[in-house]
Amino acid sequence: MMKPILQLVDVHRTYQIGESTVQALRGVSLTIERGEFVAIMGASGSGKSSLLQILGLLDNPDRGEFMILGNNVNTLTEDEQAGVRNNVAGFVFQQFHLLKRMTIVDNVRLPHIYSGLKGDFRQEAIARLKLVGLDHRMDHTPNQLSGGEQQRVAIARALIRDPLIIFADEPTGNLDSKNSAEIMKILKGLHDEGKTVIMVTHENEIAAYAGRVIIMRDGLIVSDERREGMQPAVAAAGEIELESPVSGKGGLWQDGRFTGFMAQAFQSILANKMRSFLSVLGIFVGVASVIAMMALGEGAKAAMQEQLKSMGSNMLSIRGGSARIHGAAQGAGAVARFTFTDVDDIASLRTLIKHASGVVNGNGRIVYGNKNWSSQLTGAGFDYGTMRAVEPTVGRWFTREEILMRSKSAIIGVTVVKELFGGSNPLGKTIKINRINFKVIGIAPAKGFSGPQDEDDVVIIPVTTAMYRVLGKEYLSGIFVEVASPTLIEQAKTAIGEQIRKRHRLKEDDDSFNIRDMTEIQKMLSSTTQTMSLLLGSIAAISLLVGGIGIMNIMLVSVTERTREIGLRKAIGARKSDIMLQFLVESVGMTISGGCIGILAGIGISLILATFAGWAVKTSLVSVLLATTFSALIGIFFGLWPARKAAALKPVEALRFE
Ligand code: ADP
Ligand code: MG
Repeated sequence: MMKPILQLVDVHRTYQIGESTVQALRGVSLTIERGEFVAIMGASGSGKSSLLQILGLLDNPDRGEFMILGNNVNTLTEDEQAGVRNNVAGFVFQQFHLLKRMTIVDNVRLPHIYSGLKGDFRQEAIARLKLVGLDHRMDHTPNQLSGGEQQRVAIARALIRDPLIIFADEPTGNLDSKNSAEIMKILKGLHDEGKTVIMVTHENEIAAYAGRVIIMRDGLIVSDERREGMQPAVAAAGEIELESPVSGKGGLWQDGRFTGFMAQAFQSILANKMRSFLSVLGIFVGVASVIAMMALGEGAKAAMQEQLKSMGSNMLSIRGGSARIHGAAQGAGAVARFTFTDVDDIASLRTLIKHASGVVNGNGRIVYGNKNWSSQLTGAGFDYGTMRAVEPTVGRWFTREEILMRSKSAIIGVTVVKELFGGSNPLGKTIKINRINFKVIGIAPAKGFSGPQDEDDVVIIPVTTAMYRVLGKEYLSGIFVEVASPTLIEQAKTAIGEQIRKRHRLKEDDDSFNIRDMTEIQKMLSSTTQTMSLLLGSIAAISLLVGGIGIMNIMLVSVTERTREIGLRKAIGARKSDIMLQFLVESVGMTISGGCIGILAGIGISLILATFAGWAVKTSLVSVLLATTFSALIGIFFGLWPARKAAALKPVEALRFE
């Protein structure tokens, strides 16, 4: 005795809509043999479609047994059921369910994406189209075809995997009688070749093609009749086993599945150009700003380090006030006031100290002719020039005499030269600094920017002149010291500290002054640049995140809009993971392409900032990698949720979605 192809025992199916329940099937038992042509009839709402969906594994019973070729369907996993649909079943729906964006031939071969078999199956698809007389239309899209033609394409698609069973739910429901007859002729022909055909209809003329008519009422079979002379066409074909029901055994990369998904994603991105463009734009702006902002931060850091290097590594800076980082003078504590005596004291520590110089800082209003300019004003001692590497290459440094005599000579930075003198030579010219006449004796070597700070916007004058003539200060702003060798730094700091305490009569724990070496200065400066980088980085990250949310939004809309497409794909054998992958590929594809243009734009913006605004920028590989990984992660993360949502749908639910 041959196993029946389909067997239901006491199958129930109940739908829950809010509070109320609808019993669509209330205990259906039914056996269908191979090669039968069955018509399921009955009034609207009697449960015909529910029954067909269960037979076709598009839905599962709540209760009861269902065997397909002797295999209990209840024990199959979701993916295995998808495999059975792909291998064994072909579906024809009242609404055709062709994918609008694809050509006819691509629609027909679509089930093969999920079959796990090698090849492009174009020839096979054309052969099926020939069978339904539409091979000459294969490069058209579905909406260029009439309803009857579309249904013939759907039948061709149902045949592409050479299924044992054709399921058809009101296949002629949307067609006129001429087209209906044509469709029925094709289905009848398939039955004659040995296919099992199970069809739902409410029309007697259509049911007349079948060899067995089942009539349903209120979820039960009320009549089941075989017609004379319409026995199963193939009874002798021998036993058939369900093949390994899992389709697409191969991995993602096998059999061009991935390229298949890529092509589908690309198609759908192109089909919604504006929408895709907007979400790509979000990521684009995010990635570009991450790269540009990080380049700015890195540039500032690099400029700062460059500057620190030029200052030499055995420098000490002595200032009044407590030694806090960012420490301005504290109101509560006293602030040590340094004079030239302190400088001389320190300089007298011969074995430890190479140079020492007092400095005062202030602002200068510089006037030359009818031009004026504001600049940082530095009063420097004799040794300051060598220590800070500001000895002019054009012109000369101050003499000891000039410093002693409060001479009105000035050395100016290149920015000041540019602003006040344009192209002409400033040497020997007289400028006014805070209304006092000075003679320009040199141009300080160009240093460039340290972050946003222009190191060439400076005016240096003798420290004595600055204190007593220009700024009216009695005390130094600080003292710069160059230690004889880097190994002596700690020793020098202790010695200087003791000396200052002695002279100023300060206690051991007094913090009215501080001595910083380069590592501390470096720390202080880098904490500033780090804060800046962090700030810039987080602004950029936020814009990237917003871009990601945009993508998720688009993907959610896209999933909702394409629910029926998802239903169709699942009906023809797509597994959960296939649907997820399709949508993931789409969202990751969009983020990556946005990311790539973003990288180019980010580098471009950095270059523009460097060239036209003169800012220090440094594009780093790290920022590019960071932005790329981040945008890919955003694509995956924000694509995953909609993709999961899509994949979790039952085929029937998705197909019915309006
Ligand atoms: P037929 O195809 O014979 O017209 P169906 O099998 O589609 O009937 O439906 C049988 C009953 O189940 C009907 O009362 C219908 O309203 C109900 N039904 C079908 N599908 C659903 C669903 N997804 N949710 C709620 N009720 C449903
Ligand atoms: Mg129905």
